[in-house]
Amino acid sequence: MKQSYLVDQNGYYGEFGGAYVPEILYSTVEALKEQYLGIMESEEFKQEYMELLNDYVGRPSPLYRAARMSERYGCELYLKREDLNHTGAHKINNTVGQILLAKKMGKKRIIAETGAGQHGVAVATVCALMDMPCVVYQGALDVERQHVNVERMKMLGAEVRPVFTGNHTLKDATNEAIRDWCCHPHDTFYIIGSTVGPHPYPDIVARLQSIISKEIKEQLARKTGRDYPDYLIACIGGGSNAAGTIYHYIDDERVKIVLAEAGGQGADTSHTAATIHAGSVGILHGSRTLVMQTPDGQIMEAESISAGLDYPGIGPMHANMAVKKRATVYAINDDEAIRAAFELTRTEGIIPALESAHAIAALGKMHFNSNDVVVLTVSGRGDKDVETYLANKAMAGEYGTF
Ligand SMILES: *Cc1c(COP(=O)(O)O)cnc(C)c1O
Repeated sequence: MKQSYLVDQNGYYGEFGGAYVPEILYSTVEALKEQYLGIMESEEFKQEYMELLNDYVGRPSPLYRAARMSERYGCELYLKREDLNHTGAHKINNTVGQILLAKKMGKKRIIAETGAGQHGVAVATVCALMDMPCVVYQGALDVERQHVNVERMKMLGAEVRPVFTGNHTLKDATNEAIRDWCCHPHDTFYIIGSTVGPHPYPDIVARLQSIISKEIKEQLARKTGRDYPDYLIACIGGGSNAAGTIYHYIDDERVKIVLAEAGGQGADTSHTAATIHAGSVGILHGSRTLVMQTPDGQIMEAESISAGLDYPGIGPMHANMAVKKRATVYAINDDEAIRAAFELTRTEGIIPALESAHAIAALGKMHFNSNDVVVLTVSGRGDKDVETYLANKAMAGEYGTF
């Protein structure tokens, strides 16, 4: 049988994945595992989900042929515009779907973790929409650093609980969310924001984001007469926008997959979030995957200029694709991402999120044939990053002199 890069019946992607959860959550995760496919594949769910994606999120998102960037890189470059979604990124595709799943499972209360606050805002948004109580755990340091998103979450009606354990950042917030879930396993649904966590979460999130590649297929067929590209490019934190971008092409070897992770100050330094380059096999947030850790297994702090890629793990789907060489993975350093953000801004009039700028920067590391069709996902918009761009415009070369 031909091997697939999608999840297997046991919840694994090759040697990665699984569900390593505390005993007290075992039956909750087991119930989710038993129910999610039946619910998500029902006509009722699909209809409600698609209606929200179309009328609330604003889908389909455009597939835009970037003429000036195409000329510059010597290929046919198309941008998948997730930046144009409601709330400004792809994350809403997932939270809309998970809250529907929570409701169908009879859950009454939503919890989530957030780092920079983007996932927290996407969760608070759908909780306002569905009138469900929402608690978001966020590291106390992140609460301080991400003031605007904290206020957005509160304005949307969520309770933001600052976490003072560990380094006061994302992994501590995740631990706290899991602790809450352990105390309220029956009435509470935990909305995870990326293709991470115990099985079936990586598969749930990948399926909910797969609308991205479903649309790419239809849009490419219409625009080019061929429904697949030569290259797909996406940035990866946990891996959800990348999973959505590649989902319907993952086992199609005609399509080359390129992932851009956050190099920070360099993948060979201690100031990095390049998990695939610098990590080793471990268990993080309930899944066996690649993790940045000390030799004795302590999780290390990830470091990147981009808050959304600042995660010391990687989804098991991507870990498997990386070790099997299905995907080519570049570590993009902070200065390269900043420069790429300015380049896209000046060349196409699109200010991308800093996370997405990592994917743009990968273009400069690749060599194309002039008729190669390249689809790159712009995972989010850059409004939230304008201060960072201005503070670092010295890294932007000729674009930074204004
Ligand atoms: C959160 C975020 C990411 C990283 O998350 P993935 O799960 O890897 O997609 C990328 N881009 C934007 C705009 C984000 O908000």
